[in-house]
Amino acid sequence: MDRRLVLIVDDDAEAREILRQAFLARGYECEEAGDGAEALEQFRASRPLLTISDVRMPGMDGLEFLKAARALDPTAAIVMLTGADDVQVGVECMKQGASDYLVKPVSRRDILDASERALERRRLLLARDEEQAQLARRVTEVTRDLDYVSQYDALTGLANRALFQDRLGRAQVRAERSGQPLAVMLVDVDHFKAINESLGYEAGDLFLKGVAERLRQCVRAVDSIARLGADEFAIVLEGLGRAELAAVVAERTLASFAVPFLVAGRELFVTVSVGIAVYPADGADAGALIKNADAALSGAKEQGRNAFRFYTPDLNASALERLALQAGLRRALERGELKLYYQPQVELKTGRVTGVEALLRWHHPERGLVPPGAFIPLAEESGLIIPIGEWVLRAGCAQAQAWQAGGVGPLRVAVNLSARQFRHARLRESVAAAVAEAGLDPRFLELELTEGLLMDPTDAVTRTLADLKAMRLLIAIDDFGTGYSSLSYLKRFAVDILKIDQSFVRDLTTDPNALAIAEAIVALARSLRLAVVAEGVETREQVDALLDLGCDEGQGYFFSRPVPPDAFAQWLATWRS
Ligand code: C2E
Ligand code: MG
Ligand code: MG
Repeated sequence: MDRRLVLIVDDDAEAREILRQAFLARGYECEEAGDGAEALEQFRASRPLLTISDVRMPGMDGLEFLKAARALDPTAAIVMLTGADDVQVGVECMKQGASDYLVKPVSRRDILDASERALERRRLLLARDEEQAQLARRVTEVTRDLDYVSQYDALTGLANRALFQDRLGRAQVRAERSGQPLAVMLVDVDHFKAINESLGYEAGDLFLKGVAERLRQCVRAVDSIARLGADEFAIVLEGLGRAELAAVVAERTLASFAVPFLVAGRELFVTVSVGIAVYPADGADAGALIKNADAALSGAKEQGRNAFRFYTPDLNASALERLALQAGLRRALERGELKLYYQPQVELKTGRVTGVEALLRWHHPERGLVPPGAFIPLAEESGLIIPIGEWVLRAGCAQAQAWQAGGVGPLRVAVNLSARQFRHARLRESVAAAVAEAGLDPRFLELELTEGLLMDPTDAVTRTLADLKAMRLLIAIDDFGTGYSSLSYLKRFAVDILKIDQSFVRDLTTDPNALAIAEAIVALARSLRLAVVAEGVETREQVDALLDLGCDEGQGYFFSRPVPPDAFAQWLATWRS
């Protein structure tokens, strides 16, 4: 391969000789062949750096040779020589994969220039192959990283929420079998925010590691500890004998914080609050247990912190409030209290606005603006998410079409779908109806799904997804990196876009782990040829970091908060000018 070898193919010996002289003068070695068959033989044996071949030859002609040689080496530099009388042949050569072609008669200069260009192209192709190979290796690494990331907290090495719920589920099965109660204990650091703000995030992180260490010492090795949120930890206590014994562990935990922490050369006196829920009395599944332990934790905080509390049903007075909200939600749709706000998605390199995400808001007559986090879970529980979701689809499509028709321009509109909505039998029809009713080209509609849905898909989910894809709309995975991050589903399904979860973007410039994950997601997306959108972009520094990673698009307060449609059109006009 390193030999500078040129293969010269022509049935005319005199023509070969002229070329040979030209290349010898340039320091190349030369081999010659008088027809296609002979040329192929030599090509196979000596893999020349460069091949110059006449097209018209007796026996196997140049085109046939070209085709066979190209199949042997997709990056080979092959320049074809055609007769002046036939223009079409040149085109045919390029179709068959020639690096270039020249029309006879050719000067030395022409031939040497064309050869240089062909060799340069070959170098580029090889470089791209190498890049691809590197990317593939990176993706393998990333897969491992994401597998870990999807189960463990990077800072403390403790289990994360997903793994914790899984373990809690297993513990429940064991409790069922042994007849012994188990308890879920939530531990929250009092006034953690103040610590973080006064000492800085780095010291805050060190402190949290210390907390994790101390909790480990308070429980037995069999008890599983997890970090659920910034300063919120959870522990499963198994084999308790009596549920009340959880109080002993809680006492011990509170007491262990009496010793100050040494962080960044300073003594820190901190306390924690603890909430406890017991299985089976306080909840039938992991979700209910964690929720009720959380209610107990809030109770402990209200009591003045540095305390623990067991769950009691009256702690759930807010359940009544949920019922009230639920009833209100039913009427909200009919009364037009639901609105869509829009947030731009911006191409980072150019600042071009490529699309918007439609985000649901409830203008509650008494409570004012209610964010989706406060009512979408309720809507899912009650099934109201189906009619609400249909309304969102229709309103989103209609808005996109109105902007197109009104001269704002074509904008892709992204609509969020909840898992329950996706599993609903009529989803396909709703989507088709929304698009048709609005007269919107489906390529401008994007549906945002969450990872969980695709992780363990039923046949129905797979079929729905295929049907949606057949409608030529776009599929995005929302909050990517927080769920299960199983790569296999990405390969299996026709996904178009990954949205990097805001938590990674938020910590991009401060936390090397977040940066590594974001980088991994971008590399992964690239190798699977998906677009990547970073969510929650708030600062110029984050934009720069994302550009460095090669992330395509961003969305976040840095560009604009989600705003009503009119305000969005105004924002867009200013942004573009
Ligand atoms: P999401 O789809 O991940 O939406 C992004 C959320 O991040 C939005 O919260 C948005 O307001 C917020 N956000 C955007 N930029 C920034 C930023 O720079 N910094 C920070 N801190 N936050 C930013 P929002 O509007 O409260 O929506 C919350 C979630 O509710 C959404 O998360 C989505 O999962 C769900 N949701 C919203 N609308 C709908 C809907 O129509 N249907 C369904 N099923 N879910 C919806
Ligand atoms: Mg979304
Ligand atoms: Mg998101």
